[in-house]
Amino acid sequence: MSLFEPTLQAAQARLSAVQPDAYARTRNALEGAVTRLSPYLTHGFLSLADVYLAVHKRHPLNAQHKLVFELGWRGYYRHVWSHLGQGIEQSLRKGLHPETVYQQKIPDDFLEARTGIPAIDLAVRSLYETGYVHNHARMWLASYLVHLRKVHWHAGAQWMLAHLLDGDLASNHLSWQWVAGTNSNKPYLFNADNIAKYAPVPWHSPGTVLDTSYEIMHQYALSAEAIKYDLPPSYASAGMGQPDTGVKPLGMEWQKPDATVVTGRDVWLVHPWSLGTPLHVKTTNSICIGIGLIECHSNTPWSTRRWNFVREGMQTQAEQLWWGSVQEVVASLSTARSVQWQSEPHVNGAMTELQNRLERNGGCTTALALDAPELFKPVPAYCASFAQWWKKTGIQLEFNA
Ligand SMILES: Cc1cc2nc3c(=O)[nH]c(=O)nc-3n(C[C@H](O)[C@H](O)[C@H](O)COP(=O)(O)OP(=O)(O)OC[C@H]3O[C@@H](n4cnc5c(N)ncnc54)[C@H](O)[C@@H]3O)c2cc1C
Repeated sequence: MSLFEPTLQAAQARLSAVQPDAYARTRNALEGAVTRLSPYLTHGFLSLADVYLAVHKRHPLNAQHKLVFELGWRGYYRHVWSHLGQGIEQSLRKGLHPETVYQQKIPDDFLEARTGIPAIDLAVRSLYETGYVHNHARMWLASYLVHLRKVHWHAGAQWMLAHLLDGDLASNHLSWQWVAGTNSNKPYLFNADNIAKYAPVPWHSPGTVLDTSYEIMHQYALSAEAIKYDLPPSYASAGMGQPDTGVKPLGMEWQKPDATVVTGRDVWLVHPWSLGTPLHVKTTNSICIGIGLIECHSNTPWSTRRWNFVREGMQTQAEQLWWGSVQEVVASLSTARSVQWQSEPHVNGAMTELQNRLERNGGCTTALALDAPELFKPVPAYCASFAQWWKKTGIQLEFNA
């Protein structure tokens, strides 16, 4: 059974299992009490407000609680994304080296989990086998690729985004930039002692290139050359295959948008970021359609695991799944009696375009507002650091009752 089932029940079960105090004490450890809520947050089964309210009811949380603080990082990255849009795909400030020092190609030994460094290889395996990696291991992967192997953070971010079930452009790209030092004051570095402190024994990496001091790690990062080391012979070929990724979902379930099934009917759209929204009360004249937009994925392929997660999540509600361009979907919906969908909280060009074009089509379309208001108070002016944003935001009053 998969670690993550794409259902509202599975999301609720995870929510009920959150232990905020244990989380605060142990979240940095790979075996710590992390929530694993991220795929449910990314795909719209839960909002940050849902998480806060459910936990707060059982265990009052003040605004300084570690869990609230970490939820805040997601809120902050959203804030940055809403201000910079596609600008988050560029380095936000100068890093340690000119951009040209970093290569775009990720080395095969890394992609095939055969670097010979247990912590790196196990983290890659975890990503491929479950679609999830603990935050600390994500930091290790990113730091190793950028600072030791001199891979550009954007190439690493695109690779990880494709395989994560929680892949989210804002949290992902801005975290990679944080590690790279293009969205923070200094690069994030780690070593074998750090791994030994936070990871179980099989991850420990003594005798590897990581088994050194922070001073040496810093020198590696300052060098414009990728580290050179000989792979142990047993690692030269003993890796694992990389799972497939694709810019479109595979499978017969996905059909071309088809006007004939919606003509004269009330249509409810479910998209990959609204999987948990019970959009509609079924009537004889209504139909629920799951949509995937070509434009959303042409630059960001997803793993088969992620496509399956999305497809299964949609199929719990939708009678048909459509895969097409914004233009095709809008044209096919033009004969519907009404069209409704959960508004898309992300800054995503194609989803916004779909929304605008459906709205321009006439009065029969509605983007439903999110059920709950945002957890954090909106901060209108752009904050270039989390600390700045955190000072200005806070939990919205209605959540503190
Ligand atoms: C290189 C790198 C890439 C990342 N890519 C993504 C991504 O694509 N999607 C994504 O959702 N998160 C990403 N993160 C942030 C973080 O690693 C994950 O949100 C977290 O590991 C998800 O697991 P969890 O739900 O068990 O987290 P928990 O520790 O249980 O935290 C609960 C929730 O708080 C939020 N949160 C916690 N830590 C962070 C953080 N550092 N940054 C932002 N939000 C946080 C998440 O929504 C998370 O689900 C990335 C971090 C790094 C270092």
